[in-house]
Amino acid sequence: KLHNMVQELKGNIRVFCRVRPVLPSDSDEEAKITFPDKREHKEIVLESSSESATGQERKEVYNFGFDKVFEPRATQAEVFEEISQLAQSCTDGYNVCIFAYGQTGSGKSYTMEGGPTEQDAGMIPRAVDQVFRVAEQMKSKGWEYTMEGQFLEIYNETINDLLGAHDFDKKKHEIKHDARTGTTRVTDLTVVPLHSAAQVRALLQLAQKRRSVAATLVNERSSRSHSVFTLRIRGACPGAKEECEGSLNLVDLAGSERLNVSFANGAERERVKETQSINKSLSALGDVIAALGERGAGGAGAEGKHIPYRNSKLTYLLQNSLSGNSKTLMFLNLSPLASHLNESLTSLRFATKVN
Ligand code: ADP
Repeated sequence: KLHNMVQELKGNIRVFCRVRPVLPSDSDEEAKITFPDKREHKEIVLESSSESATGQERKEVYNFGFDKVFEPRATQAEVFEEISQLAQSCTDGYNVCIFAYGQTGSGKSYTMEGGPTEQDAGMIPRAVDQVFRVAEQMKSKGWEYTMEGQFLEIYNETINDLLGAHDFDKKKHEIKHDARTGTTRVTDLTVVPLHSAAQVRALLQLAQKRRSVAATLVNERSSRSHSVFTLRIRGACPGAKEECEGSLNLVDLAGSERLNVSFANGAERERVKETQSINKSLSALGDVIAALGERGAGGAGAEGKHIPYRNSKLTYLLQNSLSGNSKTLMFLNLSPLASHLNESLTSLRFATKVN
């Protein structure tokens, strides 16, 4: 059986697939994802084998297409190369959103935040460096930029401030959308003026530490919550009497895995609540991106199509950055392992819907 789902680029939404390597800790499991297309790097093939009721081996082959595919050996620098233009377009006044979607352990944090060495640095620190570099270059053309940043976590549909001085989740933060100015703010959230790439790196590290401290309170919390780093940038060129305002949103989504909720009781109940809120917000995100894709692709009634932003905190928060004047990119992170094949297929179906 061959499912050929090669998609075309729709509107401003792109989906990049990144398959992580088999790790030493994966024992001796086999990789089940292959890359048939050696020139364009836009396709992957999944192979699953199962035993039918009559004891015969049944093989299924699934073929999926993307705007770009990164094989396990792709370096962080190579991946960034493909998104750097998109990331820096916030300096031209665009709202940019970059998401990482996938099951826990598929490489979302590695892609977005990265590892400790410079070589391992992920898309967030690289994008921030790039924005500062561009801002510096634009000085010679008379442009002055000011930037501010915020970093929050959405856990169980509750917002936590990752840059706040204290009380990790004591304050209640609400999303306020101002239809007149078209701006979205979160109440009582720490917003930090950004001056240099080094300062932002230090801030990100602080937030990461805070998240891992909270993780000891609630089991594996960081994989059960979305983290959203936002850089807002305002540029002005007095000579040319020009101004622009853009933003860059980098989102490490909660693990997309489906937990078995049927035999949940007691302590498991918290897990069920988490799972339901994750499922709800991920599908709300899928619905919004799919609706935007349809609008971008034109077609009958596409212009006036309702975009359901209000169905989750995440989409409501990012409403401005997921609309007309915005560019969206989703990394679909996959584990190549045979034991993760079903989750990989679920992720791929999600990506097919949004692209
Ligand atoms: P997630 O955030 O989706 O739960 P992680 O980013 O934590 O997954 O990745 C799981 C493990 O795989 C980590 O140990 C990470 O360092 C490793 N890993 C993920 N992607 C890569 C990659 N492209 N190259 C090397 N190691 C990777």
